[in-house]
Amino acid sequence: MIIASNFKTNHTRKSTKEFIKQVDNFVKNTNSDVQTRIYPTATALDNFDCDKSIKVGAQNFYPTFKGSFTGEIGFEQLQEFGVDSVLIGHSERRHILKESSSLLVKKYDFAKEQGVEIVYCVGEPKEVREAGIDAVMAYIWEQFDGIDLDYSKLIIAYEPVWAIGTGLSASNDDIKEVLKRLRKSIRKPLLYGGSVNVDNVGDILDIENCDGVLVGTVSWTAEAFIKMIEAAQKNKEK
Ligand code: PEP
Repeated sequence: MIIASNFKTNHTRKSTKEFIKQVDNFVKNTNSDVQTRIYPTATALDNFDCDKSIKVGAQNFYPTFKGSFTGEIGFEQLQEFGVDSVLIGHSERRHILKESSSLLVKKYDFAKEQGVEIVYCVGEPKEVREAGIDAVMAYIWEQFDGIDLDYSKLIIAYEPVWAIGTGLSASNDDIKEVLKRLRKSIRKPLLYGGSVNVDNVGDILDIENCDGVLVGTVSWTAEAFIKMIEAAQKNKEK
């Protein structure tokens, strides 16, 4: 089970440090072995001394080690903080920041060369969902074009665009159907993301083929995030 928190553009260095400390204390005190991921803003990255089940990763990077790319962050800068997990293809980067499929493939290949864990996000916009499950799957498969699905450190997050940050999670049946279809050809951990909260996380983790969740909004307090880790722990013990 993987429980991941995407901070997006929230928290300061100070509050990130406090958040991670609280989560780390919980994990250590409860001997939790749930795989936990936290993606703070780039300015809050640091060498955190956490339990081995917790990885603090990067929400974004430019596919270079270093160079002349004003405003961007390369792997030299990420490595300084021991970052070995990155998000690629988040819908906000695809749609708001206009990252193209070819840039995503470049980022993917670069991160793969660096040997880091990649959480690769896919998901359909509302109009595609309304066109039915076959349209949804066709849209998602296109997002996998050029992506090496055999990469050993790949995790996939299915995040319908219309469910992200809207408070409107996909139905459990819809999640189940997409994960079932992905599972037919993908042997990697499959996460769901999109308005996961403390009340629905238990049921979502129960869905067949669901290996965890990627959470934005509701995960931004350590208390709520810890509750989600507890839910994953309970799910593992079932
Ligand atoms: C996300 O940012 O990946 C996400 C799923 O956000 P939210 O939980 O706010 O929908």
